[in-house]
Amino acid sequence: AKENKAVITLFGATGDLAQRKLYPSLFNLYQKGYLAEHFALLGTSRRPVSDEEFQAMVEKSISGIDEVQAGNAQAFAKHFFYQSHDVTKPEHYEVLKERLEKLDEQFETEGNRLFYMSMAPQFFGTIALNLKKQALLTDDGFNRLVIEKPFGRDFASAKALNDELSQTFKEDQIFRIDHYLGKEMIQNIEALRFGNTIIESLWNNRYIDNIQVTLSEKLGVEERAGYYDHSGALRDMVQNHIMQVVAQLAMEQPVAFTDSDVRVEKIKALRSLRLYTPSEAASNFVRGQYDAGADNPDYRHEDGVDPQSNTETFVAAKLMFDNYRWSGVPFYVRTGKKLADKFTRIDVVFRKPLIDIFANPRMASEQSLKSNVLTIYVEPQSGFALRVNAKTAGQGFQTEPVDLEYMQNDSSKKEAPEPYERLFHDALEGNHTNFASWSEIAYAWKFVDVVRKLWDIEEPQFPNYTPGTMGPAASDELLARDGRAWVYNL
Ligand code: NAD
Repeated sequence: AKENKAVITLFGATGDLAQRKLYPSLFNLYQKGYLAEHFALLGTSRRPVSDEEFQAMVEKSISGIDEVQAGNAQAFAKHFFYQSHDVTKPEHYEVLKERLEKLDEQFETEGNRLFYMSMAPQFFGTIALNLKKQALLTDDGFNRLVIEKPFGRDFASAKALNDELSQTFKEDQIFRIDHYLGKEMIQNIEALRFGNTIIESLWNNRYIDNIQVTLSEKLGVEERAGYYDHSGALRDMVQNHIMQVVAQLAMEQPVAFTDSDVRVEKIKALRSLRLYTPSEAASNFVRGQYDAGADNPDYRHEDGVDPQSNTETFVAAKLMFDNYRWSGVPFYVRTGKKLADKFTRIDVVFRKPLIDIFANPRMASEQSLKSNVLTIYVEPQSGFALRVNAKTAGQGFQTEPVDLEYMQNDSSKKEAPEPYERLFHDALEGNHTNFASWSEIAYAWKFVDVVRKLWDIEEPQFPNYTPGTMGPAASDELLARDGRAWVYNL
């Protein structure tokens, strides 16, 4: 493995995300040799913590990882340092600057700096501005910003944030995290499409009837209620993860598989996404909020949720791309909490043969052919299946759908790095492929804003779905109205 040299400054170093995801990911990179002698991490947050205490926290956060080589955890933790820091106080950045310069010298990181913002988003802009004002960026190495979600709460606030960041960082220095893009099977969309004639040649409105994307969660709001109640499924899942997945499904073939070429195509795809009028949004979007179940209160009675909350915990929608490839092909998407199961999958439903010769009335056969479906299993299993019609063994002539299936086994699953590990590595390498560009985010917000505005004025009939189901009845009706149904259904 090629070693990445850098000093990482982490804002929000004592936070949940840092301990649960970021330190374990960095440790995996360390064990694989992508991080070695020439890296250091300076953690910051408000709490006063000594370097030693911080190193102990880091060691604890990686204690769940198996197959740790002897002594590696301690050696890894020695690269971690801590500085108590209030992001709103300019003078605190001077201290940071001195420490970063020392770390740069001590670990010979060649002036490479990666700033990672893992804290409440209202501080993102302030941090970036102070990094510039107090001159924390170097002239000799790279300067990169990795930034967590959410990126704004509508187009206007996202633009304001982006304008603030842009005063310090250029677009090619900004890495906006969307951890769905770090998932193995989301990255596999490109391999499946552009590596296979038999798939890509059918990937258009002549052969595809509709595409379905489901991001289903089994849990309710849990501890994130305070945040979630101000966000809702539309902002928390649709604007970012779903739009990114859909853009990869819809985009044209990039000239080459490079970050800049892929970006161009994703942006083009999102530009051709039909921007709904409010009345179109009303008929093409469904929202839901979960009711009480056997072991949970209804959403409005969850801890930390406003008892009159109109926040949606479920969204289903029909998206249309107005371009040559997709004209007339609906993309149905849905996501929600307290649904039947925890999984993410994509179902590409192909058109049926124009003529079903097996349904010939003279053969007294009532059967009708099933649509071919390519299902991409994103999680918990990773793999895909292609449903085809075949003859049922035996006398007579019946057909039945069978699955051609590929599922990754446990050992290849182990090979696949966790999303955060992959994304950290990409950012250290300067590879933008799996990060969201500003234009993508801007188009996604503009699309979502129409719906949000509508929902903010119209009173919903909540709660409207039972935990353990796949959401409100209106979600099924959204497809039934078009003569279609969700492939995954209870
Ligand atoms: P958290 O509340 O657990 O941690 C926030 C950190 O920021 C703490 O270290 C805190 O000390 C520090 N902090 C707060 N105010 C500060 C100030 N004024 N000056 C200096 N430091 C301050 O948050 P988290 O769950 O770790 O989330 C961090 C980011 O990651 C957020 O943007 C969040 O939206 C995003 N995110 C989190 C998760 C998750 O699973 N936790 C998932 C996706 C995205």
